Amino acid sequence: MMSVNFSRKKQSSELIQIGGVTPFTTIDYPGELAAVLFLQGCPWRCDYCHNKGFIDRKQVAAVSWESVLDFLGERKTLLDAVVFSGGEPTLQTGLPEAIQQVKHLGFKIGLHSAGVYPARLQKLLPWLDWVGLDIKAPASRYSAITGVSNSAERAWDSARLLVDSDVDYEIRTTLHPKLISRSDLYQLVDELKQINVRHYRVQKCNTRYCSDDNITEQDFNNLELSDQDRIGNIFPSFEYR
Ligand code: SF4
Repeated sequence: MMSVNFSRKKQSSELIQIGGVTPFTTIDYPGELAAVLFLQGCPWRCDYCHNKGFIDRKQVAAVSWESVLDFLGERKTLLDAVVFSGGEPTLQTGLPEAIQQVKHLGFKIGLHSAGVYPARLQKLLPWLDWVGLDIKAPASRYSAITGVSNSAERAWDSARLLVDSDVDYEIRTTLHPKLISRSDLYQLVDELKQINVRHYRVQKCNTRYCSDDNITEQDFNNLELSDQDRIGNIFPSFEYR
């Protein structure tokens, strides 16, 4: 992540707690130049989490909200969109206000979420232009990945809300063979099909950054071409990378 000299303020005075910023990216919001704000805190504990530095909600904000607004104000003509990521950005109660402030600056709004809080996602939808929603596994395998017992219901409720909305989206799944077998993946694909998902991406887990040492540096096969074809034929839009 590129570093920028954002100023830091006392945690209690912040609208949202931001652990870091990517000031410029072409890969986090499809087709748009975007900045990404990483919000602090996530209640789930996925072994393959790449953003473990953003999981602790109590971590003091690394970047002040005021300095982010200043930064965005100076880049109105250079950036198209701002993506709220994390951690789990919907954890923070200041998120709706923060999104509205950025929207009023003229940016498109993207959200990266694991669907942890479906009711909060529902309230945000009118303000969002694009959502990248992680659906990690078929419902039966969810808690084994997140470490949280009711995580499947929450994620799948969020997926249904998103798919039935007018907001552009991508449902994506991180594939780690120790956590999701090939039959799990096809079960998941079937469940996604049942809720009419149209835009789906499977991404290979980059094990170098996994928070659990037991699943790092493990070699595994890419998704076979035949599997890519089979899954690609199910969704109007499918990508594997
Ligand atoms: S839901 Fe996302 S941010 Fe939270 S632990 Fe899992 S991978 Fe990390």
